[in-house]
Amino acid sequence: DAPDLRDGPGEVTLEKVAFSYAGGTSVIKDMSLTFEAGKTTALVGPSGGGKSTILNLILRLYDPNAGAVRIDGQDIRGVTFGSLRQKIAFVGQDTFLFSTTVMDNLRLARPDASDEDVIEAARIAHAHEFITRLPQGYRTPIGENGAFLSGGQRQRLAIARAVLRRAPILLLDEATSALDSQSETLVRDALERISTGVTTLVIAHRLTTVMNADKICYLGDGAVIEHGTLTDLLTKGGHFSRLYQSQFRGQENF
Ligand code: ADP
Repeated sequence: DAPDLRDGPGEVTLEKVAFSYAGGTSVIKDMSLTFEAGKTTALVGPSGGGKSTILNLILRLYDPNAGAVRIDGQDIRGVTFGSLRQKIAFVGQDTFLFSTTVMDNLRLARPDASDEDVIEAARIAHAHEFITRLPQGYRTPIGENGAFLSGGQRQRLAIARAVLRRAPILLLDEATSALDSQSETLVRDALERISTGVTTLVIAHRLTTVMNADKICYLGDGAVIEHGTLTDLLTKGGHFSRLYQSQFRGQENF
């Protein structure tokens, strides 16, 4: 039987990874890259460049056709799926919610969490305030996939789940569509809180996110085109630098 993923700092390595979706053309081409433990890396680059695919491979939604994805040196194909998922929290653009109470939806992230643990996580995620304003607070049934909640509220529930999971690796797909500005600020603040000291990979759609990251990885056509700090990439004057300059003339969103 496969062993569990060992506890460790959460360094993620792509080792000569090649990947294509079933029957399709090559999406990731011989990619080797290390995401340093505890640091935040912003993934940027044109649509279709392979950013989401990298997150899919780390989550083991797919396996590479060649090479390996390693966490703290362990090939993720050689460990139990449950132990892998315990180490990773994912906050995406869509948050799946069940037709049960807010409390039960949050507790899914860690079934043995006490009510106090859940409330603490919701506070960190800036979700506690809006939850307590719901008709029955934490006992409010969420309804068909949370239809009555705003996008920002749903994201903050996903962030609360990530807090409860206490995972050393955090994968974020930043919302492309604008949240209302108050919600945007709360989401951003909550994400900053939870990514501190955690290996974070964020598909970045906002300049601020990129500027706050420790490293930037510019992907194009399934390959790492540029990788480094903001200063490195601006000094280099390549693809990222051009994207960055155009954002100063344009709006905040990529
Ligand atoms: P990005 O996140 O940078 O926009 P993706 O990783 O989503 O890029 O996509 C990389 C390439 O893989 C694109 O050509 C896209 O069409 C293709 N692709 C993405 N998801 C799938 C899928 N589930 N099945 C087949 N092709 C896919």
